[in-house]
Amino acid sequence: MDRYLVKPNSKIDLKAISSDHYKGYQGTKEQAMELTKIMNLELDKLQKIQNAEKKHKILIIFQGLDASGKDGAIRNVFGSVNPSGVYVAHFGAPTTTELSYDFLWRIHKKVPSKGEIVIFNRSHYEDVLIVRVQNLMPENIWRNRFEHINNFEKMLADEDTIILKFYLHISKEEQRTRLQSRVDNPEKHWKIDPQDFKDREKWDEYIEAYNDVLKFTSTEYAPWFVIPSDKKWYRDLIITSILTDKLRKMKMKYPSSKYDYTGYVVK
Ligand code: AMP
Ligand code: MG
Repeated sequence: MDRYLVKPNSKIDLKAISSDHYKGYQGTKEQAMELTKIMNLELDKLQKIQNAEKKHKILIIFQGLDASGKDGAIRNVFGSVNPSGVYVAHFGAPTTTELSYDFLWRIHKKVPSKGEIVIFNRSHYEDVLIVRVQNLMPENIWRNRFEHINNFEKMLADEDTIILKFYLHISKEEQRTRLQSRVDNPEKHWKIDPQDFKDREKWDEYIEAYNDVLKFTSTEYAPWFVIPSDKKWYRDLIITSILTDKLRKMKMKYPSSKYDYTGYVVK
Protein backbone atom coordinates (compact mmCIF):
# COMPACT_ATOMS: atom_id res chain seq x y z
CA MET A 1 0.00 0.00 0.00
CA ASP A 2 3.06 2.24 0.27
CA ARG A 3 2.65 2.78 -3.45
CA TYR A 4 0.08 5.48 -2.70
CA LEU A 5 1.89 7.02 0.26
CA VAL A 6 3.40 10.48 -0.14
CA LYS A 7 6.86 10.39 1.41
CA PRO A 8 7.65 13.40 3.61
CA ASN A 9 9.18 16.33 1.67
CA SER A 10 8.76 14.64 -1.69
CA LYS A 11 7.87 16.86 -4.61
CA ILE A 12 4.52 15.85 -5.98
CA ASP A 13 3.19 16.56 -9.44
CA LEU A 14 -0.42 15.40 -9.50
CA LYS A 15 -0.65 15.93 -13.23
CA ALA A 16 1.89 13.15 -13.68
CA ILE A 17 0.05 10.76 -11.35
CA SER A 18 -2.60 8.50 -12.82
CA SER A 19 -6.12 8.78 -11.43
CA ASP A 20 -7.12 5.48 -13.09
CA HIS A 21 -4.40 3.28 -11.70
CA TYR A 22 -6.91 0.40 -11.53
CA LYS A 23 -5.87 -0.45 -15.09
CA GLY A 24 -2.89 -2.28 -13.60
CA TYR A 25 -5.12 -4.18 -11.13
CA GLN A 26 -5.16 -7.93 -11.69
CA GLY A 27 -8.58 -8.73 -10.21
CA THR A 28 -12.05 -7.89 -11.47
CA LYS A 29 -14.36 -5.16 -10.22
CA GLU A 30 -16.57 -7.81 -8.58
CA GLN A 31 -13.61 -9.36 -6.77
CA ALA A 32 -12.50 -5.93 -5.57
CA MET A 33 -15.96 -5.15 -4.22
CA GLU A 34 -16.16 -8.52 -2.47
CA LEU A 35 -12.75 -8.00 -0.87
CA THR A 36 -13.76 -4.53 0.26
CA LYS A 37 -16.85 -5.99 1.94
CA ILE A 38 -14.76 -8.56 3.79
CA MET A 39 -12.40 -5.86 5.00
CA ASN A 40 -15.36 -3.63 5.98
CA LEU A 41 -16.36 -6.33 8.46
CA GLU A 42 -12.83 -6.62 9.78
CA LEU A 43 -12.77 -2.85 10.22
CA ASP A 44 -15.89 -3.16 12.37
CA LYS A 45 -14.20 -5.78 14.56
CA LEU A 46 -11.04 -3.71 14.91
CA GLN A 47 -13.06 -0.63 15.80
CA LYS A 48 -14.88 -2.60 18.49
CA ILE A 49 -11.54 -3.42 20.12
CA GLN A 50 -10.33 0.17 19.71
CA ASN A 51 -13.47 1.37 21.44
CA ALA A 52 -13.07 -1.12 24.31
CA GLU A 53 -9.38 -0.46 24.74
CA LYS A 54 -9.84 3.35 24.89
CA LYS A 55 -6.19 3.95 24.12
CA HIS A 56 -6.03 5.39 20.63
CA LYS A 57 -7.82 8.22 18.90
CA ILE A 58 -8.19 7.82 15.15
CA LEU A 59 -8.59 10.71 12.74
CA ILE A 60 -9.20 10.07 9.04
CA ILE A 61 -9.16 13.08 6.72
CA PHE A 62 -10.79 13.09 3.28
CA GLN A 63 -9.92 15.80 0.78
CA GLY A 64 -10.49 16.10 -2.94
CA LEU A 65 -12.02 18.36 -5.55
CA ASP A 66 -15.78 18.56 -6.02
CA ALA A 67 -17.30 15.25 -7.12
CA SER A 68 -14.10 13.37 -6.26
CA GLY A 69 -16.20 10.97 -4.17
CA LYS A 70 -15.59 11.93 -0.56
CA ASP A 71 -19.16 11.14 0.57
CA GLY A 72 -19.31 7.87 -1.36
CA ALA A 73 -15.94 6.70 -0.07
CA ILE A 74 -16.94 7.43 3.53
CA ARG A 75 -20.13 5.42 3.11
CA ASN A 76 -18.43 2.49 1.37
CA VAL A 77 -15.43 2.28 3.68
CA PHE A 78 -17.18 2.78 7.02
CA GLY A 79 -20.69 1.54 6.17
CA SER A 80 -20.29 -1.67 8.19
CA VAL A 81 -18.73 -0.09 11.26
CA ASN A 82 -20.94 0.29 14.34
CA PRO A 83 -22.41 3.81 14.03
CA SER A 84 -21.79 4.38 17.75
CA GLY A 85 -18.09 4.08 17.10
CA VAL A 86 -17.60 6.59 14.32
CA TYR A 87 -18.42 10.22 13.84
CA VAL A 88 -18.29 12.18 10.57
CA ALA A 89 -17.53 15.90 10.68
CA HIS A 90 -18.16 17.88 7.51
CA PHE A 91 -16.55 21.28 7.08
CA GLY A 92 -18.31 23.69 4.75
CA ALA A 93 -17.71 27.41 4.32
CA PRO A 94 -17.06 28.83 7.80
CA THR A 95 -19.79 30.80 9.57
CA THR A 96 -19.24 34.39 10.71
CA THR A 97 -18.62 33.12 14.22
CA GLU A 98 -16.08 30.53 13.02
CA LEU A 99 -14.32 33.20 10.97
CA SER A 100 -13.94 35.36 14.03
CA TYR A 101 -11.64 32.71 15.59
CA ASP A 102 -8.40 31.18 14.30
CA PHE A 103 -8.81 28.65 11.45
CA LEU A 104 -8.15 25.64 13.67
CA TRP A 105 -10.73 26.53 16.30
CA ARG A 106 -13.65 24.75 14.66
CA ILE A 107 -11.41 21.83 13.69
CA HIS A 108 -9.96 21.16 17.13
CA LYS A 109 -13.45 20.90 18.62
CA LYS A 110 -14.16 17.85 16.43
CA VAL A 111 -11.02 15.73 16.86
CA PRO A 112 -11.48 12.20 18.26
CA SER A 113 -11.23 11.24 21.92
CA LYS A 114 -9.80 7.89 23.14
CA GLY A 115 -11.66 4.98 21.57
CA GLU A 116 -13.24 7.06 18.81
CA ILE A 117 -12.84 7.22 15.05
CA VAL A 118 -13.59 10.63 13.57
CA ILE A 119 -13.79 11.14 9.83
CA PHE A 120 -13.26 14.61 8.40
CA ASN A 121 -15.15 15.29 5.16
CA ARG A 122 -13.04 18.31 4.15
CA SER A 123 -10.94 19.85 6.88
CA HIS A 124 -8.44 22.53 7.87
CA TYR A 125 -6.81 21.88 4.47
CA GLU A 126 -9.55 24.00 2.88
CA ASP A 127 -7.80 26.89 4.59
CA VAL A 128 -4.82 26.48 2.26
CA LEU A 129 -6.88 25.34 -0.76
CA ILE A 130 -10.08 27.28 -1.52
CA VAL A 131 -8.80 30.14 0.62
CA ARG A 132 -5.69 30.32 -1.55
CA VAL A 133 -7.24 29.67 -4.95
CA GLN A 134 -10.26 31.93 -4.49
CA ASN A 135 -8.14 34.63 -2.78
CA LEU A 136 -10.14 34.66 0.42
CA MET A 137 -7.09 35.67 2.47
CA PRO A 138 -3.74 37.27 1.62
CA GLU A 139 -0.82 34.96 0.87
CA ASN A 140 1.12 35.82 4.02
CA ILE A 141 -1.80 34.43 6.04
CA TRP A 142 -2.37 31.11 4.25
CA ARG A 143 1.31 30.39 3.62
CA ASN A 144 2.09 30.28 7.34
CA ARG A 145 -0.71 27.79 7.79
CA PHE A 146 1.32 24.87 6.44
CA GLU A 147 3.55 25.16 9.48
CA HIS A 148 0.61 25.69 11.83
CA ILE A 149 -1.09 22.59 10.41
CA ASN A 150 2.01 20.44 10.88
CA ASN A 151 2.43 21.65 14.45
CA PHE A 152 -1.25 21.00 15.20
CA GLU A 153 -1.15 17.49 13.76
CA LYS A 154 2.12 16.72 15.58
CA MET A 155 0.50 17.75 18.83
CA LEU A 156 -2.48 15.46 18.14
CA ALA A 157 -0.15 12.59 17.24
CA ASP A 158 1.89 13.10 20.42
CA GLU A 159 -1.39 12.73 22.31
CA ASP A 160 -2.03 9.26 20.82
CA THR A 161 -3.96 10.25 17.71
CA ILE A 162 -3.44 8.12 14.63
CA ILE A 163 -3.89 10.40 11.61
CA LEU A 164 -4.37 9.20 8.02
CA LYS A 165 -5.13 11.59 5.17
CA PHE A 166 -6.62 10.59 1.84
CA TYR A 167 -6.56 12.77 -1.26
CA LEU A 168 -9.10 11.44 -3.79
CA HIS A 169 -7.47 11.96 -7.15
CA ILE A 170 -9.79 12.24 -10.19
CA SER A 171 -9.15 13.47 -13.71
CA LYS A 172 -10.66 16.67 -15.03
CA GLU A 173 -12.64 14.59 -17.50
CA GLU A 174 -14.07 12.36 -14.79
CA GLN A 175 -15.11 15.44 -12.81
CA ARG A 176 -16.91 16.76 -15.90
CA THR A 177 -18.84 13.50 -16.24
CA ARG A 178 -19.82 13.50 -12.57
CA LEU A 179 -20.88 17.17 -12.49
CA GLN A 180 -22.86 16.58 -15.69
CA SER A 181 -24.67 13.63 -14.10
CA ARG A 182 -25.79 15.97 -11.31
CA VAL A 183 -27.46 18.08 -13.97
CA ASP A 184 -28.96 15.12 -15.87
CA ASN A 185 -30.14 12.98 -12.95
CA PRO A 186 -33.04 14.45 -10.89
CA GLU A 187 -31.90 12.44 -7.86
CA LYS A 188 -28.62 14.32 -7.94
CA HIS A 189 -29.97 17.83 -8.51
CA TRP A 190 -29.68 18.60 -4.83
CA LYS A 191 -25.91 18.24 -5.12
CA ILE A 192 -25.54 21.06 -7.65
CA ASP A 193 -23.58 23.91 -6.13
CA PRO A 194 -22.62 26.93 -8.28
CA GLN A 195 -19.37 27.08 -6.30
CA ASP A 196 -18.34 23.75 -7.88
CA PHE A 197 -18.41 25.30 -11.34
CA LYS A 198 -16.45 28.33 -10.17
CA ASP A 199 -13.90 26.00 -8.64
CA ARG A 200 -13.71 23.89 -11.81
CA GLU A 201 -12.65 26.97 -13.79
CA LYS A 202 -9.62 27.11 -11.50
CA TRP A 203 -8.74 23.42 -11.86
CA ASP A 204 -5.04 24.09 -12.54
CA GLU A 205 -4.69 26.40 -9.56
CA TYR A 206 -6.33 23.78 -7.33
CA ILE A 207 -3.94 21.10 -8.55
CA GLU A 208 -1.01 23.44 -7.80
CA ALA A 209 -2.42 24.10 -4.33
CA TYR A 210 -2.84 20.35 -3.72
CA ASN A 211 0.73 19.71 -4.90
CA ASP A 212 1.90 22.06 -2.13
CA VAL A 213 -0.38 20.50 0.47
CA LEU A 214 1.02 17.05 -0.32
CA LYS A 215 4.60 18.28 -0.39
CA PHE A 216 4.53 20.32 2.81
CA THR A 217 2.16 18.37 5.03
CA SER A 218 2.79 14.68 4.45
CA THR A 219 4.68 13.70 7.60
CA GLU A 220 5.65 10.54 9.46
CA TYR A 221 2.96 11.26 12.04
CA ALA A 222 0.22 12.32 9.58
CA PRO A 223 0.86 10.89 6.12
CA TRP A 224 -1.05 11.65 2.92
CA PHE A 225 -2.13 8.97 0.47
CA VAL A 226 -3.01 9.86 -3.12
CA ILE A 227 -5.89 7.55 -4.06
CA PRO A 228 -6.64 6.97 -7.76
CA SER A 229 -10.37 7.63 -7.69
CA ASP A 230 -11.73 7.60 -11.24
CA LYS A 231 -13.16 4.18 -10.43
CA LYS A 232 -15.15 4.16 -7.23
CA TRP A 233 -14.66 0.46 -6.52
CA TYR A 234 -10.88 0.80 -6.81
CA ARG A 235 -10.85 3.88 -4.58
CA ASP A 236 -12.86 2.01 -1.90
CA LEU A 237 -10.65 -1.06 -2.12
CA ILE A 238 -7.44 0.91 -1.64
CA ILE A 239 -8.67 3.11 1.21
CA THR A 240 -10.20 0.16 3.06
CA SER A 241 -6.96 -1.84 2.64
CA ILE A 242 -4.75 0.98 3.94
CA LEU A 243 -6.99 1.55 6.92
CA THR A 244 -7.45 -2.10 7.85
CA ASP A 245 -3.73 -2.69 7.54
CA LYS A 246 -2.97 0.25 9.83
CA LEU A 247 -5.47 -0.84 12.49
CA ARG A 248 -4.25 -4.45 12.39
CA LYS A 249 -0.68 -3.31 12.99
CA MET A 250 -1.72 -1.36 16.07
CA LYS A 251 -2.05 -4.71 17.89
CA MET A 252 -5.03 -3.57 19.92
CA LYS A 253 -6.37 -5.84 22.68
CA TYR A 254 -9.55 -6.10 24.69
CA PRO A 255 -8.66 -4.93 28.20
CA SER A 256 -8.90 -7.53 30.98
CA SER A 257 -11.46 -7.01 33.73
CA LYS A 258 -10.58 -4.90 36.73
CA TYR A 259 -12.85 -7.15 38.82
CA ASP A 260 -12.92 -10.85 39.66
CA TYR A 261 -16.11 -12.89 39.23
CA THR A 262 -17.43 -11.94 42.67
CA GLY A 263 -17.12 -8.27 41.81
CA TYR A 264 -14.02 -7.60 43.90
CA VAL A 265 -11.33 -5.42 42.43
CA VAL A 266 -8.41 -7.54 41.15
CA LYS A 267 -5.19 -6.51 42.98
P1 AMP B 1 -19.49 20.37 0.10
O1 AMP B 1 -18.41 19.61 0.82
O2 AMP B 1 -19.73 19.92 -1.29
O3 AMP B 1 -20.74 20.46 0.93
O4 AMP B 1 -18.99 21.89 -0.04
C1 AMP B 1 -18.51 22.62 1.02
C2 AMP B 1 -17.91 23.91 0.48
O5 AMP B 1 -17.37 24.64 1.57
C3 AMP B 1 -16.78 23.69 -0.52
O6 AMP B 1 -16.92 24.55 -1.63
C4 AMP B 1 -15.56 24.06 0.31
O7 AMP B 1 -14.47 24.50 -0.46
C5 AMP B 1 -16.11 25.14 1.21
N1 AMP B 1 -15.25 25.33 2.40
C6 AMP B 1 -14.88 24.40 3.29
N2 AMP B 1 -14.02 24.92 4.20
C7 AMP B 1 -13.84 26.22 3.85
C8 AMP B 1 -13.06 27.28 4.38
N3 AMP B 1 -12.29 27.11 5.47
N4 AMP B 1 -13.13 28.48 3.76
C9 AMP B 1 -13.91 28.65 2.67
N5 AMP B 1 -14.67 27.69 2.12
C10 AMP B 1 -14.63 26.48 2.69
MG1 MG C 1 -20.00 20.20 -3.32
